[in-house]
Amino acid sequence: DEKKRKTVLILMSDTGGGHRASAEAIKATFELEYGDDYKVFVIDLWKEHTPWPFNQAPRAYSFMVKHETIWKFTFHSTAPKFVHQSQMAATAPFVAREVAKGLAKYQPDVIVSVHPLMQHIPLRVLRARGLLDKIPFTTVITDLSTCHPTWFHKLVTACFCPTKDVADRAFKAGLRPSQVRVHGLPIRPSFSTFSRSKDELRRELEMDEELPCVLLVGGGEGMGPVEQTARALGQSLYDEKTGRAIGQMVVVCGRNKRLVKKLEALDWNIPVKINGFVTNMSDWMAASDCIITKAGPGTIAEAMIKGLPMLLFDYIAGQEVGNVSFVVDNGAGAFCPDPKGISSIIADWFDVKTGKLREMAEQCKKLAQPDAVFKIVHDLDDMVRNKHKYLEHLNYAYRGLI
Ligand code: UDP
Repeated sequence: DEKKRKTVLILMSDTGGGHRASAEAIKATFELEYGDDYKVFVIDLWKEHTPWPFNQAPRAYSFMVKHETIWKFTFHSTAPKFVHQSQMAATAPFVAREVAKGLAKYQPDVIVSVHPLMQHIPLRVLRARGLLDKIPFTTVITDLSTCHPTWFHKLVTACFCPTKDVADRAFKAGLRPSQVRVHGLPIRPSFSTFSRSKDELRRELEMDEELPCVLLVGGGEGMGPVEQTARALGQSLYDEKTGRAIGQMVVVCGRNKRLVKKLEALDWNIPVKINGFVTNMSDWMAASDCIITKAGPGTIAEAMIKGLPMLLFDYIAGQEVGNVSFVVDNGAGAFCPDPKGISSIIADWFDVKTGKLREMAEQCKKLAQPDAVFKIVHDLDDMVRNKHKYLEHLNYAYRGLI
């Protein structure tokens, strides 16, 4: 019965920082847990629902990550309250109209925003339509620590924070305990459900069955010094004296096809697998012993679930800085931006005598929150079923806030 199906609307923008990964994780988990009871729509607001120039944002993002100073400037220049409010004011009429169209089209029972700039305007639209106390509006934050202030809005039904650190920031921003939930970052359910053994996966993925393996991931855009790092590892994981490899490497180049071609053309002394964008990341992680990656929140949370120590070699200035200290301070990995340095750290980790890899792997498992996405989805379902209980707090006093 079509009428009985509930609708979830996820607002995101494919601008990195784990927004897409989190949106997909929530959608997949709704399907797994509730099947046909729910329809989940993920809309890329900047691309589909806002007119030029705002629909250029995702493309501008890939430009900016390649030109770090511009990104740094943009991030910090939007942080002070007075600046983002005036920016908001300039874009609000366009964005609001498109958000309203999206609401009318999907008629959601609950809204989930996984983007730092998707709180204020959608909430304003809800108020204008008299829907503020009819549709629960929630935020799922995808930063592990340093948080842009626009993530927080006092009128949300719930604000899902991945860490205690982020929850503390939510309280400082004025959210009440009843609004803040700390379950962890939502990760695709395939990472936490049954996984095959490492031996089995290595055979299936045609990897060496004995040698320790480092997984080198360049992010969706193939960012970071991947080529130089791969070359340096090709040397440091090869023992010239014995003429034998002491480790193997799997490279994931993301959407960077040129990088795949370049790496494939090289001669390697160690076993190497080179991939473009992979859809079975959880298998590659489970088959490996450590990972080199940029400080994306999704990849970090996934690696923790798989007990995979991390060497972070790059981060997006501003939004991902805090993720680096999160990993390093918690003993789950290290940071090193220099390919030569990286290659000797990995060789050192692969030296079984030091036991470093095992220690960090245990630390990762302790930090992992494989149930986070299930807890978030169960909470959202409860909000749909018991709307009134959750929306009571939106009395007239609060309406003055937007
Ligand atoms: N990913 C993937 N295949 C690839 C490269 C990346 O599935 O070939 C996934 C990765 O597992 C993670 C997401 O893309 O879930 C990247 O999210 P993250 O938060 O790490 O970084 P972002 O690219 O969003 O800044």
